[in-house]
Amino acid sequence: MSIIAENLSRTLTRITEAESRFQRTSGSVALMAVSKTRTAEEVREAFDHGARDFGENYLQDAQAKMVSLTELPICWHFIGPLQSNKTRAVAERFDWVQSVDRLKIAQRLNEQRSEKLAPLNVCIQVNISREVNKSGVDPEKLRALALAMVDLPRLKLRGLMAIPAADLDEKGQRQAFSELRVLFEKLKTELVDIDTLSMGMSADMDAAIAEGSTMVRIGTALFGPRDYSSLEV
Ligand SMILES: *Cc1c(COP(=O)(O)O)cnc(C)c1O
Repeated sequence: MSIIAENLSRTLTRITEAESRFQRTSGSVALMAVSKTRTAEEVREAFDHGARDFGENYLQDAQAKMVSLTELPICWHFIGPLQSNKTRAVAERFDWVQSVDRLKIAQRLNEQRSEKLAPLNVCIQVNISREVNKSGVDPEKLRALALAMVDLPRLKLRGLMAIPAADLDEKGQRQAFSELRVLFEKLKTELVDIDTLSMGMSADMDAAIAEGSTMVRIGTALFGPRDYSSLEV
């Protein structure tokens, strides 16, 4: 078996074990393979072994891969910081954007999403650890942003995404994820259709599943350590 195939199988087992350990419904946690900095061949290999959702942070890096993989029914998620000048390409090419944290970006995506495509699935990124200069809306401003976004017809608000501070121990990770889950549940009382709590990466996926994640975003555990030198951004 190839390394990617082995890693994928190990990761799926880890998800299944965490679901059962934390009394989560079997199959309730989806896997997104985070393929930033990886080649099209690596994406194809993960796809061949069953991965369907892929996450990308950098537009050019992603577009190059999409061109050589157009025949594959991949669900592409944009998960990186998004500037205004990149929204058009993202609205045209991606199935999901998980990193929306400002109304202006949401409005541009809404205007630029073609009528020929299904509405763009979006998650609001929340700055759960309240880090200065980090992406994500402040928890206090989440509700207003979400309520404004549900009025945008070319977007479909699916839920919330967060990346907790990097230096937390397991207890701190659980605390942060639990705060995001509380925000999600509160929002769901008004916006009953939201269904996605995107939290958990290679180093904290078990804590995220324990706290209710419905989608983990896994890069390193699938593809190994990243090498950013290949990247033109
Ligand atoms: C890079 C990235 C990931 C994957 O992180 P790993 O630690 O490699 O699993 C997940 N989510 C986001 C938003 C990322 O930028």
